Amino acid sequence: MTIHFPWQEIDHIFLDMDGVLLDKYFDDYFWEEFVPAQWQQKNGGTPEQARAKLLATYKKVENTLAWCNLDYWSEQLRLDIPALKCEAREFINLRPKALNFLNAMREMDKPVSLVTNAHPKTLAVKMGKINLHPWFDRIVSAEEVGWAKEQPQFWKVLRDILPHRPERTFFADDTEKVLHAAEVAGIGYLLHIAGASSRLPPRFSPLFPSVTALGEVVEDVELPVEITSAE
Ligand SMILES: [Mg+2]
Repeated sequence: MTIHFPWQEIDHIFLDMDGVLLDKYFDDYFWEEFVPAQWQQKNGGTPEQARAKLLATYKKVENTLAWCNLDYWSEQLRLDIPALKCEAREFINLRPKALNFLNAMREMDKPVSLVTNAHPKTLAVKMGKINLHPWFDRIVSAEEVGWAKEQPQFWKVLRDILPHRPERTFFADDTEKVLHAAEVAGIGYLLHIAGASSRLPPRFSPLFPSVTALGEVVEDVELPVEITSAE
C-alpha cells in the first residue's frame, strides 16, 4: 500500500538521520560489536562478557541525552569513541531512495531540517563520509536542544530553535518512541521507517504509517545532484 501525504498542506520537513537517511547497521555494529571488542581488548574477559556488560551499561541511559553524548562514552568506557567511529566509517552508508525524497522536497521548495539525536562529533564523522549538509536548511542536534527526541521537552524547546507550526510539519523517524513524543507535541504528519538497517528485515510499526524506505512516499524523480563524499 502506498502512503500519500498532502504536501501542499505541509510547510516543514523534519528528518531523522540514522535509520532514515543513513544505514542504522553502522550504529548497531559500532555499539554492539566494535566497541565491546575494543573494550575487551583493553579490559580482558571473554567477548560475550564484554558485550553483556556494555549492553547493560548502555541500557541505563537509554532514551536520554547521555546516550547520544560521545564524550560521556569516551569517559565511561575509557576509549576514544570519536576515533573509533572514524575507524568503522566504511559502514556509514545511505539508505536506498533517501536521495529521491530529498530531491522531491527540493523540487517542491520545502524547507528541510535534520532533527537528530546524533552528537555533533557523530555528525562530523558521518558528514565527513556522506555530506548531507547541502540538503538541509537547518541541522538540529539533541545536544543543542538539551533533551533527547524521546523526551517531551525536546519538542517544546525545538519550537524556539526552529520555529514551525507542528500541525503543518512532516517528521520521519525509525523509532516509535520518538514518533510518539512528536505526536504528543502535535506534529501533524508522521512517518515510520521500517527498513532502518541494511542487515535486518523491515520492522513495520502498527502505530504509525510505516514504509520500508523514505523515498516510497514521493514520486520517483531524477537525481540531478550527486552526494559528494570527502573520501
Ligand atoms: Mg533513527
